[in-house]
Amino acid sequence: MIDQHHVSSCRLCGGASLRPVILLPSMPFTDEFVTQERLGKEFVADISIVACEECGAAQNASDTEMGDYYRDYTYTVQSSPFAMRFMEGLAQGVVSRMVTRTGPPAVLEIGSGSGEQLMEFQKLGCKVVGVEPSSKLSDFANQHGVYTIQGFFGESVCAEVERQVGQIDAVVTSYTFDHIPRPVEVLKVIHSMLRDEGLLVIEVHDLDLIGKRSEFCLFEHEHYTYLNERTMADVLGRNGFEVETYSLLDDSVKRGNSLLVVARKRTNPRVSAVRVSQELAALSAIQKNVRGAIANVDAWLSVNQDKTIVAYGAGGRGVMTTAALSNCEILSYMVDKNPKAIDVFAPKTHLPVFGIEELGKRRADLVLVFSFGYMEEIVSELQSLYGYEPQQVVSVLELLLGGRT
Ligand SMILES: [Zn+2]
Repeated sequence: MIDQHHVSSCRLCGGASLRPVILLPSMPFTDEFVTQERLGKEFVADISIVACEECGAAQNASDTEMGDYYRDYTYTVQSSPFAMRFMEGLAQGVVSRMVTRTGPPAVLEIGSGSGEQLMEFQKLGCKVVGVEPSSKLSDFANQHGVYTIQGFFGESVCAEVERQVGQIDAVVTSYTFDHIPRPVEVLKVIHSMLRDEGLLVIEVHDLDLIGKRSEFCLFEHEHYTYLNERTMADVLGRNGFEVETYSLLDDSVKRGNSLLVVARKRTNPRVSAVRVSQELAALSAIQKNVRGAIANVDAWLSVNQDKTIVAYGAGGRGVMTTAALSNCEILSYMVDKNPKAIDVFAPKTHLPVFGIEELGKRRADLVLVFSFGYMEEIVSELQSLYGYEPQQVVSVLELLLGGRT
């Protein structure tokens, strides 16, 4: 059973004044695909993003209890050459910034998944320990030589981490920090475990880039905080960390909208003050863009409603973007190269999900691609496998940003 309740104070500074800034009505979870029998029983609720009038940070207005969801979570980034390059570069960059001392440095990863990132640190001679809620992923990591504590990160794991590796030189956490409902509590625990001058490396989605690309699909029930360089520096500064760089890695190595921050534990961290009015103005601009982007896709669907249109990509972006549309019933079905299950429907829209071979059996006039990062591969694959013309394949990004209307 999913339990949801509103927060009454800022997740990042405790401020009491939260202003609604972005609303996405009736949205599902990103990957709760439903069977025929469970159609209509999936979780759907408004996603309301509020901004703190004291620190300017954007955040989810509600807590959504999802303990079991993460315990059963088995999704892991497949070790593509791209992901491997990122993890290798991250480990090298972090190790080169550590304060040198005798003995191997110790690295802790929060949300360590199947342990691939920590393996890169091991290759560089570090002692490592991971914390991961999913039992399947933590079992996998332990079987592959990456010591991993199964559970959520917090005070309760400190003693065990210290027994394993002693005091910590670096804490790394990638796309996990924004899933933490009370991030300041976690920052305090990290601060207590890190040695002086130790490093904290956090990767989250960058709110500024979400805005720039109209990627409103990243506003999810599962994401509690939405930070940019300014609000990230502010919350870190208030908790004893000073930002060193946002450019540890080149943009070409990072995922699309990554905010990758390297901060150091300091006694008196320097922070530049956030201009709250500027943050609030940026958020209302995002709300306007989100409305415009959804309207653009709806308008394109409406113009093409006599055609058979298929959605390509059943990942978070496909699920959330289609769920926000008024005209999603114009879509015929959804395909994915690696569907998580067969005989299932996307949440809220109830579009049936198939493998891409369905495009060979039931011809589409137009294929609307939500996994647009792979656009070129998709176009050439659909051409060679099923004879689709390149102009039949349309990137949703182009529509979101206002092209073709
Ligand atoms: Zn605040």
